[in-house]
Order: sequence, then C-alpha cells, then structure tokens
Amino acid sequence: MKRGSSRWTAVGWHHLYLEIPEDWGIGAVSGDASTGYLRLDDAEMPRIELRWEPARGQEPIDKVVERYLKNLTKKGRKKAPPIKVRRDLNLIKDKRLLENRAVEGFHWRIDGDEPIQAYGILWRCEVCSRIVFLQILGRAGESTMTLATRILNTLQDHPVGDTVVWAMYGMKFEIPVTCALKSHSFLTGQIKLNFTDKSSEIELERLSLAEMHLKGRSFEEWFQDTYGHEIETLDPLSEERLRHPGVQASGTTVDPETVHKRLAWLPWRRPRRRPFDSCSWHCTDGNKLFTLRRMGEGAQPEVLLDIAQSVVCH
Ligand SMILES: [Zn+2]
Ligand SMILES: [Zn+2]
Repeated sequence: MKRGSSRWTAVGWHHLYLEIPEDWGIGAVSGDASTGYLRLDDAEMPRIELRWEPARGQEPIDKVVERYLKNLTKKGRKKAPPIKVRRDLNLIKDKRLLENRAVEGFHWRIDGDEPIQAYGILWRCEVCSRIVFLQILGRAGESTMTLATRILNTLQDHPVGDTVVWAMYGMKFEIPVTCALKSHSFLTGQIKLNFTDKSSEIELERLSLAEMHLKGRSFEEWFQDTYGHEIETLDPLSEERLRHPGVQASGTTVDPETVHKRLAWLPWRRPRRRPFDSCSWHCTDGNKLFTLRRMGEGAQPEVLLDIAQSVVCH
C-alpha cells in the first residue's frame, strides 16, 4: 500500500498555517478565528488535529498541556489500553518559532491491537494571544517523529505583514489581514469562501471540471452567459497578469442579505442591489474556473487584482 506522498501542500486557515503531505485533506473544520478546530485525514485515518483558543491570562503552559491531554484520555473507551505520555519534548527546532511563545512538546502512545501514537506541541503566542495545539498522529512502526517535526516546524499562527495566507485543497492565496472569514462551503467540485472587512465583502469561488461548465464555449462566452445579467463593464485580462485567460468585470448584484423569501413580489420589498467588481479566470492547467468578487461601495479593481495574482491555482 502506498503510504505518504513525497509532495507537500499548504493549509492556511484563520491565520494559522502549516505544511502537510499532499495526500492529506480536510476531514473536519469548525469554529472561527478565536476558537476552532481543524482535522486533516489521510485515506484511512485522522493525521493532524489543530485546535486554537484565546489565551486566558497567564495560565502556566504545562497546566494547559495537562488540560488538553486529560481531555484526550477521557474520550478513550473504558477498556482501552492505557495511554503513555511523554512531556517536555523539544520538537520545535526553528528558533524564530520560539520567540514570543511558550511552547511544550509531547508524545503519547496507546499500545494494543491498533497501536497509535502522536507527536505534538501546545504553545501560547504573545503576539496573537492564542493557545495553539497541534498533534500529528501515526501508526506504530511509522517514522512519525520525522514527519511530525517537519510539520510542526512549519506552523505559524499570525501573519507578519498586511496580508495573510489562506490555503486548502491545493489552492493558496493572500488577502488583507483585515478580512475575516464569514462563511465557507466545501462541496465536491465547488469551493466558496466569503470574507468581510468593514466596508466590503470578498468572495472567492473555485469550480472544478472547467470543461464540464464551459461545454465547448470559450471562457469569455461562459462568463457572459453566467454573469451577463449583472454586468455593466467587461474587460479581458491579459494573460501576463494571471497566466490564464481571464476577465475583469463590474456591475450590480442582489445583496443576498436583503432577499426576502416570503412576499418577495411586493414592490417595496425588492432586494437591494450592491455594486461589485470581479476578476475571473480559467485555470487551464488545473481545469478549474475561478471567480473573485468584491461587493461594496467604491470599486477597487487593483485590490482585487492583487488578490487574484496571489492565487496559486494549479
Ligand atoms: Zn501568534
Ligand atoms: Zn492555474
């Protein structure tokens, strides 16, 4: 059986960032920027658990680790074999990660019919005031430590500049740090992320199987057919800008928050329309269609184009 890929990919979520083997994918995700959970699985089992929460005062880090590990054992079945824990491990080698952070590394294992082990760290970051818990799970006999230390040393929990990396499902992009994730949907063939800041809303949508959507049309024809009803201006984007055929458009669209499901026919209940500008392209290498849209007053096509140019789409 093939276990582990030699290629790596990035995961960026609520200002947390780490690098993982390419064949591990999102298994569960919940919460928000303040408190949340992300699990990454391989084809057979969970491989990474990442939790974050606000730091509460100056609770000593070893007490926090104790709290987390206790939760771990509590969940075990009554007759489960005992868990063997080792603490105070020095798993973070990158000195820069130790600045401004109180860190403790740990290892645990459960022997028995289905032995399992994990290496992980828990840290409190003084900069973003978050507690971050990350553990990498492995089967007994696997070189989990080598893999785990590689992953742990890629962990970041706050951005350094004005933009922050978001990454999932083989796609990666940077948006201004002021944008917070409002909603997301991960469907087969369609990924959608909505971000908001004070004055605008930014939406990124990725459609897989581009050829199925295009149905023989050129990208621009598809775009016209799909969004034509709300577009006022449309300009092709030169391929130098996005390395793919693309267009830039603007217009007005229905604000989804003002759509009234009932009594929608009453004239005074018509939904409000909001101006938008958008940037769309056909990733021919990855056979995907991308649409990036900003809703809000005062078009800012350059802001949008900056985001679009940061997208690693294939
Ligand atoms: Zn931080
Ligand atoms: Zn591409």
